[in-house]
Amino acid sequence: MPLTVAADLQALVDRVAEEMAGQTDRGKVADYIPGLARVDPKHFGIAITTHDGKMYSAGDAEMNFSIQSISKVFALTIALGKVGDALWKRVGREPSGNAFNSIVQLEAEHGIPRNPFINAGAIVISDVVLAGHEPREAIGEILRFMREVAGDDGITIDDEVARGEAETGFRNTALANYMRAFGNIEHPVEQVLGVYFHQCALAMNCKQLAKAGRYLMLEGQHPETGFNVVSPMRARRINALMMLCGHYDGSGEFAFRVGIPGKSGVGGGILCVVPGIASIAVWSPGLNDRGNSTLGSLALERIAVATGWSVFNQREPG
Ligand code: GLN
Repeated sequence: MPLTVAADLQALVDRVAEEMAGQTDRGKVADYIPGLARVDPKHFGIAITTHDGKMYSAGDAEMNFSIQSISKVFALTIALGKVGDALWKRVGREPSGNAFNSIVQLEAEHGIPRNPFINAGAIVISDVVLAGHEPREAIGEILRFMREVAGDDGITIDDEVARGEAETGFRNTALANYMRAFGNIEHPVEQVLGVYFHQCALAMNCKQLAKAGRYLMLEGQHPETGFNVVSPMRARRINALMMLCGHYDGSGEFAFRVGIPGKSGVGGGILCVVPGIASIAVWSPGLNDRGNSTLGSLALERIAVATGWSVFNQREPG
C-alpha cells in the first residue's frame, strides 16, 4: 500500500540515501564535456513531493546538476501546447530500442524520429518551440516554463554546459541536418540546436525537479495556481511516453525494475511521476551503459518496492 504517514517517507528517503552512500558500483560519469566530467561520482540526492504538497528529501537534494534529457519532458509539454496533436505528424510515440543519440532508424523512417525523448525527437521539438521566435526568446520561454512549473524563480541555465554541448555536438548536428534533408526541421540547424543545447543545460536540484514534475502527478494541474498546465489526457499521455521511452534502450529494464514513468538525463538525474501520488527526483552522476543513472535507478527501485508505487500494482491509493 502507498505510505500515508509522513514520517515513513522521510525515514525511507533517509534510509535509501544511506544505502546508496555504501554502494561501490556507481557507474561512469558522462565525460564528453568538462561541465559534466568534473562532477564527483559520490553525489546522491533524492526528493519526493507528494500530492498533498509535502516534500521529503535526503542527501544532496539541494545541489544543482545538469538536467540534460529530463528537459525533453518539459519541451514536449511546451510543443504540444503550441501545435497540439499535429506534433505527432513529425515525431512518433514508439520506443526506439536504440541509444539516445542513434541515427539508424531515421533513414528507413523518412526523418520522423521514433519518439520525443531520443535526441532526434527532442531536436524536432526544439524546432517546434522555436517557431515564431528568435532562439534567445525560445530559450527564455523554456526557462520561464521551468520556473513556473517548479514555482521557483532561481532556476538558471549553465552557459558553460551549453557551450560544451555546442562544441561537441557533432552527432546532434548530424541528426538535425539529416532530418532537415527530409523536411522535418524548418529552421536553420544552428538555431534549433542552440535551443536544444540550452534546454539540456538547465541546472536544477532534486527538490526543484520534483516540484517541476507536479503537474504530471496531478492530471495536468499546477498545485500553486490551480490552473491546468496541460489537460488530464495530455498529462496521462506524457506519462505513458516517459514509461515507454524515458530511458531509451533501458526503458524496458526500468519498467521491469521500477514500474514508474521516468525520464533520465546524462547528468545523472531521473524524474519519476507516480500519477496521483508523488513526483520524485533522484540524482547520482554515475551512469550505466545505457546512459541512465546507476544509483538513481537502484534508489528508485528500492522506493518502488517499499511504497508499492509501481503503476503495475493494482491497488487503491491509501
Ligand atoms: N545533451 C545530451 C545530448 O544531446 C543529452 C543526452 C541525454 O541526456 N541523454 O547528447
